[in-house]
Amino acid sequence: MGVQGSGKGTQAGLLAADLDLVHIAVGDILRWNVQNHTKLGAQVRRTMAAGLLVGDDLVDGVVSDRLGQHDWNYGFIIDGFPRNERQAEFFLESYDIDGVIHLDLPDSEVHRRVMARRLCSGCGMDYNLIANSPKTAGQCDACGGELVTREDDTEQALAVRLSEYHEKTNPVLDIFRRKEYVVTIDARPDREAIQQEIRRRLHLPPDQPVPHA
Ligand code: AMP
Repeated sequence: MGVQGSGKGTQAGLLAADLDLVHIAVGDILRWNVQNHTKLGAQVRRTMAAGLLVGDDLVDGVVSDRLGQHDWNYGFIIDGFPRNERQAEFFLESYDIDGVIHLDLPDSEVHRRVMARRLCSGCGMDYNLIANSPKTAGQCDACGGELVTREDDTEQALAVRLSEYHEKTNPVLDIFRRKEYVVTIDARPDREAIQQEIRRRLHLPPDQPVPHA
């Protein structure tokens, strides 16, 4: 869990790749549906572009369909869910949770990071023009796809998303804190340092970063 731009997708991806977990990003699934013009995509597009949370029944459906595939023998890591108390109740009733990673980032830093974010229109990989820029400007390192700005990474939508986060998602952290699930990690250092800190706090073996070519 964490505010926009705190690195949820990046950190979840690193953990999933190394620990054989399935990485489920609800926002990615919804964006895929929007890009591919599915019925679900049509239902959520406007809400997402405005920065508002999509309806709970719809999101619970997306999560249970995805987890219903049961391809997660070693477990899963989910990012961007739950985002309000109602979703948290559904999640706690339906699945076993080992831990909650809270990436803590001040709002002042959010703006700078989100405005620098780019997304590959081909494979969905995330870039950040501050800390993680592509080798060739505007082009994805992995698939060569065009890098675009997310439709909801605008000043206006970001303000809405931040207020949704503080109003609706923060109380979820309190629910999980009461169950002693939460480790709070400072999300300001670089991504390798954050990954190592997550692992240290969760008593996982340290990450062995792949050397850059
Ligand atoms: P994200 O990629 O996690 O920033 O999510 C992008 C957008 O997808 C959010 O601003 C919401 O419109 C929608 N979304 C993602 N996850 C959820 C969720 N758990 N509940 C409601 N809406 C969500």
